[in-house]
Amino acid sequence: MIPAEEGDGGMAAVKSGTLYVVATPIGNLSDLSARAKEVLTAVSAICAEDTRHTKTLLQAFGIDKPLIALHEHNEGDIAWKLVERLKTGDSLALVSDAGTPLVSDPGYRLVREVRAAGFAVSPVPGACAAIAALSVAGIPSDRFCFEGFLPAKSSARRERLQNLAREARTLVFYESSHRIDESLVDLVAIFGADREAVIARELTKLFETVLGDTLGSLLEKVQADENQRKGEFVIVVRGCEDDTGVALAEGQRLYAKLVEHMKPSQAAKLAAELSGAPRKSLYGGEAS
Ligand code: SAM
Repeated sequence: MIPAEEGDGGMAAVKSGTLYVVATPIGNLSDLSARAKEVLTAVSAICAEDTRHTKTLLQAFGIDKPLIALHEHNEGDIAWKLVERLKTGDSLALVSDAGTPLVSDPGYRLVREVRAAGFAVSPVPGACAAIAALSVAGIPSDRFCFEGFLPAKSSARRERLQNLAREARTLVFYESSHRIDESLVDLVAIFGADREAVIARELTKLFETVLGDTLGSLLEKVQADENQRKGEFVIVVRGCEDDTGVALAEGQRLYAKLVEHMKPSQAAKLAAELSGAPRKSLYGGEAS
């Protein structure tokens, strides 16, 4: 047990003129921390991505607070008004719909403006889907890169993946039920069917599943079972480890360029010669 003074540094629940960035649960309401409850109860007002959603969360904890809508479309316009409130001595909290604000969620501009105006921004840490997934994936977690959501269009998505194909660090992606299938197809096409990955679905919720396998097998499992395409997903992909992976990534990069100027079979032959990747593996880049 940490003595209270050491654990909370003797801090009162909130200080005036401070913006608290508060993490909320990603599914299981019990994951709202005791300190998050204290801070949300004590601040002057709460900035929320979706006020109706946050109202429901607050009601579950008996917290009644003025809510201010702050989303990607108005953040730039209202940040200065919130700074004005801090000047009057108010304390504010920022929450998003789920998890940690600013992580694939609004808040970056507000935090930046508040800090630039000389006011304190203090974190109240808690749930984050990317970190929760990484903590159960069993894929090297000493170095990782968070990539958030991949582009919605397949061509842009493949280009982004192409740029990441040789990344040695573990990669973490967010994905929704609308695109889990097509994103996996593109991951297999660009990273190869043999790359190890984990799909963490509905974490902390009733239908939580954590599937680990090669990308190729994961795609088959997701395509075979409709339930595995429902809910919210984090995809954790092992980084590129060996020369084969590097050659494959380089071969696919070359193939994508060459195929614009020659027949696919010629492009694959030339890309294979230049990169050392097996010719057959490069036809994956041709799909769709
Ligand atoms: N700020 C949030 C965080 O800290 O994780 C993320 C917000 S982002 C708009 C929502 C995405 O996070 C979902 O599409 C999904 O990829 C991921 N996510 C959120 N909750 C999740 C959960 N319970 N299980 C798996 N993924 C989740």
